[in-house]
Amino acid sequence: IVRFQDVHKSFGDVNVLKGINLDIKPAEKVAIIGPSGSGKTTIIRMLMTLEEPSSGDIIVDGKNLWKMEKNGHMVKANEKHLREVRGDIGMVFQHFNLFPHMTILENCMTAPIHVKKESKEEVRDRSIQMLERVGLGEKLDNYPSQLSGGQKQRVAMARALVMRPKIMLFDEVTSALDPELVGEVLEVIRDLAKHEDMAMVLVTHEMDFALDIADKVLFLDEGVIAEQGTASEVIEHSENERLQGFLRRFR
Ligand code: ATP
Repeated sequence: IVRFQDVHKSFGDVNVLKGINLDIKPAEKVAIIGPSGSGKTTIIRMLMTLEEPSSGDIIVDGKNLWKMEKNGHMVKANEKHLREVRGDIGMVFQHFNLFPHMTILENCMTAPIHVKKESKEEVRDRSIQMLERVGLGEKLDNYPSQLSGGQKQRVAMARALVMRPKIMLFDEVTSALDPELVGEVLEVIRDLAKHEDMAMVLVTHEMDFALDIADKVLFLDEGVIAEQGTASEVIEHSENERLQGFLRRFR
């Protein structure tokens, strides 16, 4: 459902992405690994449609998101398509960005009601179902400040799921958590990966987790995909020295 063709991205003089080609199929689970500064978050931001490429094609559902004008600037190819694509993408970040003045149930309900204009009753039922799914069925009326970091992250996941995304993006969702809370969050993602047929793209430093759930792993290094393949090929059997050096730090 998503294809990058020779995508480059620079910020000023800094070339962050240098010709990325990637394909994400419906229901595919893709893990992106790589050192700090290699461009992982930039790829995620492009998948979120928040950032345009400097050149290259980002194609979603068969249509280009951006087009280049004669002066070399990239602009939206089609406003309506971009909006539809945004509606199909769910995201969870390192920091949970919950609304502090809303209960966790209200946090889950607000976007479908205000952005998608869905009926309140239906959204409420679905939100409760998703909060139960992430193990928070008992906490519906609590406020974010009453929850642990792991619980907040699980609310952020439920809130994204309520929108019924076709693609879920997870950008280092466990890196801001205390170590003892990481497991419960990974467990929820693992459960989603096994039982949901949406595509998932995860930036992670948890290699055993990537081995367990990813259909495909990309090793990003200095703005290029230096290695890609099945999780086992990349994490267990690659002979790429930079990758091996990277893995030694995380396994
Ligand atoms: P980390 O694991 O540390 O989050 P990353 O692989 O996600 O790293 P990115 O956040 O994509 O890396 O950043 C890649 C490079 O692009 C970095 O050198 C960063 O400083 C630069 N960069 C990212 N966004 C911008 C921006 N808006 N303006 C200027 N430079 C940027």
